[in-house]
Amino acid sequence: TSTLGIPTTADLRSRAARALHALGADLPEPGKLPARTPITGGTLATLQYSDPSAVDAAITAADNVFREWRTVPAPRRAAVVRRLGELLVEHQAALADLVTLEAGKIGAEARGEVQEMIDVCEFAVGLSRQLYGRTIASERPGHRLSETWHPLGVVGVISAFNFPVAVWAWNTAIALVCGDTVVWKPSETTPLTALACHTLLRRAAVETGFDPGIHQLVQGGADVGRQLVDDHRIALLSATGSTRMGRTVAPRVAARFGRCLLELGGNNAAIVTPSADLELTTRAVVFSAAGTAGQRCTSLRRLIVHADIAGPLLERLDRAYRQLRVGDPFADGVLVGPLINGQAYQGMQAAIERARADYGELLCGGERVDVAGDESYYVRPAVLRMHAQTEVVREETFAPLLYVMTYRDFDLAIEMHNAVSQGLSSSIFTTDQREAERFLAPDGSDCGIANVNIGTSGAEIGGAFGGEKDTGGGRESGSDSWKAYMRRATNTVNYSSELPLAQGIVFG
Ligand code: NAD
Repeated sequence: TSTLGIPTTADLRSRAARALHALGADLPEPGKLPARTPITGGTLATLQYSDPSAVDAAITAADNVFREWRTVPAPRRAAVVRRLGELLVEHQAALADLVTLEAGKIGAEARGEVQEMIDVCEFAVGLSRQLYGRTIASERPGHRLSETWHPLGVVGVISAFNFPVAVWAWNTAIALVCGDTVVWKPSETTPLTALACHTLLRRAAVETGFDPGIHQLVQGGADVGRQLVDDHRIALLSATGSTRMGRTVAPRVAARFGRCLLELGGNNAAIVTPSADLELTTRAVVFSAAGTAGQRCTSLRRLIVHADIAGPLLERLDRAYRQLRVGDPFADGVLVGPLINGQAYQGMQAAIERARADYGELLCGGERVDVAGDESYYVRPAVLRMHAQTEVVREETFAPLLYVMTYRDFDLAIEMHNAVSQGLSSSIFTTDQREAERFLAPDGSDCGIANVNIGTSGAEIGGAFGGEKDTGGGRESGSDSWKAYMRRATNTVNYSSELPLAQGIVFG
């Protein structure tokens, strides 16, 4: 370790090599794709960047394997996912290490992310026996009307840096039991975690007697992603990332009548009403707003507080924020790791400047902390008091930045809550049942996720995950999200010797 008590890039490089080795994925041939760590800003390794012919070959292979895979009964397909879940349990610590190394998450959150993968594998295994279609009452005698769910095809998965492994597992575990094959384009920022997941899944396939070609990995930037977007063999493109990315991807997929599942940016808010339990609220707000250094799609970015309790709540928040330890995400007691890169830091500083120009008052944080030198970016989580929800507040700044506004009228608070273009996650803190129910009602929160007395982040895998408006409308993970990964056939069977036509039509 260096004199600062923080690991050096050389330490981190050997930690990455050890983790990869434990996962059975030795360091690949050097290439032009760098794997960087935000902990020091140094380079851990370089990997091959997939060229267009490699991407094309991956899609071809996934398409070929699909023809066989779709005929394997779903409960048997689940064997691969069950084995993947077991391998993840066995290798949880090593994979979590890679998540910390590449995404900068603190140890507890990185392990939690791998736990989420294990949970979704378990969910998908159970789901494999529950891909139910309905039987529908036919209007014709001697007829049976039903629907069947069939595998869809090749699923292209494009994922973001901040959930480098869980988002892949949400998509892949479910796509595989649904009978689809997968081509994954991870974030160019987290190629080593991707290599590790790919290795585990291929091992799970081989050990359960299936073709490892059910999963293909392509590595690189937006150009590699675009090749998936434009290829007609990608039946479903599941893309997670910024709204900017979604805006370019969605029309291109639509132009070839492909299917899209979009999980885009959020600008999540919580309303705190006079009856709220302030102790619980404070803990929930700090985890949601400062946790993961504000780099979750569900991070809390806007707090809408009743004017009568703004003083006491802000005092508690101030105290809690001052106790947050910022530093090496591997170190015990550290709760806030690094930002992903300099661009994220500059984005945060620019947002603070703009908020101040809008007469916002910086209550705490925002400054850079020198943890590991110039190439890494650590900041103290910031709280800004705003008089209005100005333009900068209505944008997603992917950093630990919390804007606080006050309200007096509950209806106006809900209006303010919904007055942003994104619609991912939301919370209300109240012990008043009427307010809680109103928040969850049709004229309450307009988000895909609406919570009562818990923060905006940290969803469980059992529910459908996703959001409305500029968040893209997709739903992943639990509930009936699996339907996006299958195609529905409506079947009418005539078991009579008559030929009655629907709507009572007599022909001839
Ligand atoms: P990003 O949009 O920069 O990149 C996401 C992925 O899209 C990467 O793999 C990238 O290479 C790829 N990509 C970018 N442009 C593309 C294009 N034109 N065509 C094809 N692929 C393209 O996002 P990021 O910085 O990695 O992640 C942060 C963003 O992701 C935030 O906005 C966050 O809210 C969002 N996010 C959303 C969810 C969700 O479930 N709603 C989850 C995690 C992150």
